[in-house]
Amino acid sequence: MNVLVMGAGQLARMMALAGAPLNLHVTAYDVNSAKVQHPVTGEIYPLTLEQAVAAADVVTSEFEHIPYPVQAVCEASGKFKPNSTAIKAGGDRRQEKALLDAAGVANAGYRIVQTETEFMLAINELGLPLVLKSALAGYDGKGQWRLKHAEDAALVWADIAAFMAGADHSLPQAIVAEQFVRFDREVSLVGVRNEHGDTVVYPLTENHHVNGVLSVSLALPSQAALQQQAKQMFDAVASQLQYVGVLALEFFQVGEQLLVNEIAPRVHNSGHWTQQGADTCQFENHLRAVCGLPLGSTTLVRPTVMVNILGEDYVNPAVLSLPSCHLHWYGKTKRAGRKMGHINICGATAKELAERFSTLSALLPESSFPEVAQMATKLRERAKQI
Ligand code: AMP
Repeated sequence: MNVLVMGAGQLARMMALAGAPLNLHVTAYDVNSAKVQHPVTGEIYPLTLEQAVAAADVVTSEFEHIPYPVQAVCEASGKFKPNSTAIKAGGDRRQEKALLDAAGVANAGYRIVQTETEFMLAINELGLPLVLKSALAGYDGKGQWRLKHAEDAALVWADIAAFMAGADHSLPQAIVAEQFVRFDREVSLVGVRNEHGDTVVYPLTENHHVNGVLSVSLALPSQAALQQQAKQMFDAVASQLQYVGVLALEFFQVGEQLLVNEIAPRVHNSGHWTQQGADTCQFENHLRAVCGLPLGSTTLVRPTVMVNILGEDYVNPAVLSLPSCHLHWYGKTKRAGRKMGHINICGATAKELAERFSTLSALLPESSFPEVAQMATKLRERAKQI
């Protein structure tokens, strides 16, 4: 089967690599250059979007910020999975919040704000602190502001107004003003739904962000009650969207309660550990779902840590001498902060994983991998209790 992916980044690349053993041929459409290309070799095919869509058996996506006219071409083909309602909900926080409310899943209190008057009203109604998020084009902590003290409101609004004025005016911009959640930790659930409505999910993954960007994900056997809560929320959102493919839900955990922070209608960075730690990786499972094949087992086969490589095109090759340690480069040109690759390291038990993660972290300089060594130390402490 031929699968066309909207977006030609690392996620399309990893889909292509996972699809090859199943004879699933993945091509990618780079929405920035409007070129159809091979997601691993970069070879350009002389095809328009319309021709590539016509030649594909299935059209899918690796990211949510696909221009609406491009989505319209995909949707009109009847081959687009997940559908463009799901993609748009991932790319517009207003639609995302409406979806979460319609699905009846808990999320932080919020107001949609377009004017200074609405902003002041939101402050009164929601209280402080607030997190202000651009409805469109916001990801990895970009397009976000914090307001802690009422006296800073005018200043923060001036900043937001300038941001909105500079935004792309082809779509109406707004801000989602959200109550600040004092969470205990951030976790995510990556799962997959097929066209018959069957779902399977991976274990909850614990995520550590540095400067708003994912740095480390940790997959251990998860606590049954929390896993069940997350699965129910996943099913509610996925069924509301009539979703087909891999979907990720990011949560704030407060005590034993989960609040959905955001959704990602695609394979997700916090699911990269599944390449070495799960029975079937998220990339293969996404392809299986969109191609109408049986879903693969999502069982955790061994505890795994994923470390993102950000803004670096070199890591000490000695990492490859560590047991159960795997390096995944994305073949991208180096740029500050850019997601360049990731490392997966596994252990038979949480304790063994913690030891190995510690050894790995000693090979990763603090300047390029901030806070990774502290995370390794914390995992060692925790592993003693497990
Ligand atoms: P987001 O782009 O929505 O994932 O936000 C980036 C990061 O900001 C999250 O991973 C959280 O660490 C933090 N954050 C976002 N929204 C909130 C909130 N309502 N309360 C507390 N922290 C938040």
